[in-house]
Formats: sequence, structure tokens, C-alpha cells
Amino acid sequence: MSPPLLEARRVGYRIGDAVLVDGVDLEVRSGEILGIVGPNGAGKSTLVRMLAGETAPSEGQVLLDGEPIGGYRPHDLAVRRALLPQSTVLQFAFRVLDVVMMGRYPHREATPADDAISVETAMERGDIGHLRERLYPTLSGGEQARVSFARVLAQETPILLLDEPSASLDVRHQELVMAVLRTLTGSGAAVAAVLHDLNLAARHADRVAVMSGGRIVEVGLTAEVLRSDLLSEVYRHPVAVVPHPHLDCPLVLPLRS
Ligand code: ADP
Ligand code: MG
Repeated sequence: MSPPLLEARRVGYRIGDAVLVDGVDLEVRSGEILGIVGPNGAGKSTLVRMLAGETAPSEGQVLLDGEPIGGYRPHDLAVRRALLPQSTVLQFAFRVLDVVMMGRYPHREATPADDAISVETAMERGDIGHLRERLYPTLSGGEQARVSFARVLAQETPILLLDEPSASLDVRHQELVMAVLRTLTGSGAAVAAVLHDLNLAARHADRVAVMSGGRIVEVGLTAEVLRSDLLSEVYRHPVAVVPHPHLDCPLVLPLRS
């Protein structure tokens, strides 16, 4: 098994009396897609920001390549990991092409030709080439999400942290995003993605971490973790899990309460 590129050790985050994340141990390894699931308010976004080094933990530490992430200079961090936040608030009237180009910012030593290839590849992978001259604020929510995804791809980092990358995407683009992530892990990237849609996790994640109340209640192989008993308890709603009729993965079916 490859060593973790990113590791949370007893990581916690509190604001005043509120405990948002509590004692989390988690590894993100080269070649895997780790799905992070759990109900609203479980602490998933807070954890992902700490894994990215955007937010310093109140307790414990995050290690990147074995070194405390807080010790990296911003540029060294930006070439190692990319973060797709849950919501990107970008009001300025940038063109799509320029937004994706922002992902190239950390690659100071790259030539303009390198940058152009990266940006074109990222736009193709996000299926946004036809939108390149459009102004970002005029795009639909799903189109904006794909532009933000392409910006993260253009950063070309070995670690990708994505907070609900597929939340506003149609079925085809949800599958497209996950297929792109699989291509990247095939080349050794490590991916951790908060996935709102349990079936997206079921179909595409190698491992799943289930968060609830700031803690990881279970982490392991997708088919072992996505169980009716665990999901029904964590989501406080009856959920059935059956074998997928067409694919080699579980199928998660929320029932009526
Ligand atoms: P998730 O991404 O799993 O939905 P978040 O990490 O965004 O959850 O938030 C975890 C919990 O922390 C939520 O219940 C949220 O309301 C709470 N929270 C976020 N910011 C603050 C804050 N400044 N003070 C108190 N609670 C907060
Ligand atoms: Mg969130």
C-alpha cells in the first residue's frame, strides 16, 4: 500500500464551545479516490479545509508528504495540493479562460506554451471549451462548477481536495468529473472528495469516510462502509443498500420515513 500523501492525526476544530471536527484520523493515498460523506453540518467542509492547509486545526495536525502542512510556504502548498471549495464566490466579470488560467498561477517557471496546454486539457476535461469566451458570472450554476473544476485541474497537483464537486452537475457531467478524477488517480494522484450523492460515492470511491457530528464514524472500502444500518443511523432516515443491477458496486436507496 502506498504511503499517505496527506494525513490527518487527531485533528479537531472548535469555535468557542462549538466542536466542528473532533479527533479525526484520516489518510489520503496516491492512486485512490476517497469519498467523504455525511449529513449536513457533519464537519466535512471544515475537515477538507484543514486537509488543504487553509484552516489551521485547533487540535492535532495535518501532514503533507510527512511534514506538518502549516510549515509549507504558500507556493510550495499550491504546487502540491489543489482545493475546490464548496462554493466559489467570484463576482468579477472574468472570462472562463482567465478563470481556468488562474489555476496556473503557482507554476511560475512554466512556459506560456506549457500553460496553454494545461489550460486546454483542463477545459476539455471540464467540458467547457465552448464557454471559453463567456463571462463567468453569466454561466449557469453547473457550468460555473465545471469551470471551477477545470481551474483546479489546471493547477496540476498530485493531491486534489474537492468539496462537493458534482453538487450542481447533471448526470453526464457528474460521471465526467468522476471519470476525470479516476484518470488522475491512475497517474498517481490522491483525491479526497466530499460527495453529497451517496451513489456517486458508491460507484466511484475506492474508500469512503462517513462523518457525523464532527467525527469519522467509519472509514474503509466503499462496499464495506456503505451499509443500510450505518447510513440509516447517520442520516437519521431509513436507507436500503442493495447490489447494483448493472455495476459491481452498492446501490443506495433512501426509503420513505
Ligand atoms: P458540512 O460540510 O459537513 O455540511 P461544515 O464543516 O460546513 O459541515 O460545518 C460543520 C458545522 O459547523 C455545521 O453545523 C455548521 O453550522 C457549524 N459552523 C460552521 N461555522 C461555524 C461558526 N463560525 N460557529 C459555530 N458553528 C459553525
Ligand atoms: Mg459542506
